[in-house]
Amino acid sequence: MDVVSIRDFSIEQIEHILDVAEKMVPIARGDEKSDLLEGKMLGSLFYEPSTRTRLSFEAAMMRLGGKTLGFDEPKGSSVAKGETLADTIRMVDAYSDVIVLRHPQEGAARLAGHFAENPVVNAGDGAGQHPTQTLLDLFTIRKETKRIEGNHVVIVGDLKYGRTVHSLSEALSMFGAKLTFVAPPSLQMPKEHIRHIESRGIKPSISSSLEEVVKDADVLYVTRIQKERFPDAAEYQKVAGAYKVNMEMLKDVKKDMIIMHPLPRVTEVDPEVDGTEHAKYFEQAFNGVPVRMALLALVLGGIQ
Ligand code: ASP
Repeated sequence: MDVVSIRDFSIEQIEHILDVAEKMVPIARGDEKSDLLEGKMLGSLFYEPSTRTRLSFEAAMMRLGGKTLGFDEPKGSSVAKGETLADTIRMVDAYSDVIVLRHPQEGAARLAGHFAENPVVNAGDGAGQHPTQTLLDLFTIRKETKRIEGNHVVIVGDLKYGRTVHSLSEALSMFGAKLTFVAPPSLQMPKEHIRHIESRGIKPSISSSLEEVVKDADVLYVTRIQKERFPDAAEYQKVAGAYKVNMEMLKDVKKDMIIMHPLPRVTEVDPEVDGTEHAKYFEQAFNGVPVRMALLALVLGGIQ
């Protein structure tokens, strides 16, 4: 099975992945050993920068006894000579058992799936989707708040270009979470995603003031303004630094409200917040390892 969009999953499948991921935690921490994916090869193709997604996929594969090959910078591959995505995919498909692809173009992972016989996992396609980030986000929410349904999740930042929040808000609507979207009007959630969320029976609230809505949040999901996706630098300057989560803002929030961020952060979460009980973004980043272990094990048939 290819993993291209969070829409590819049912609630039951997502819950199964999260349950398997929980069992993977000791192996992800290095406390237990596993050879579940021994002899399997991960092809890791990153046409855009990445820290957590690439390294946690590689860590996941290696912790399960598998190996990885690929590139983190297409300049060092035949892409620099003009090779098409289709041809690169055909090759890496022949050398590996699963391909993890990050690409600046929306739809690239779906396209790659047509040229690969082995599964293709979307590790972020432009401003499209980022389904494996969503799985680890859901894992984090479930672990930290003990539920997904019924939580009020406030999502703030760049909702237009932010692929993590496209996937996440769609998934949260499946689970029946309450959603509030906070962004400058020019960076609000695209209509296509709103329509999809509404089709699941959830009516998201829209706001441009974080102060107004943060007090009622159970989860505050902060995102970076995606500078690299702006066609015009002047447009970016208008919204850069639009939101900042700091100690002042946290004065009146719920005691057990959690703050998440897919990272990297720029200025949107003050480092002072890191030391509070609310900050869960580093745990969230670690959770990428057990969740991606579960996904790889399931996709590669290591477990059912
Ligand atoms: N790391 C996330 C992504 O690749 C979020 C971000 O870059 O702001 O989409």
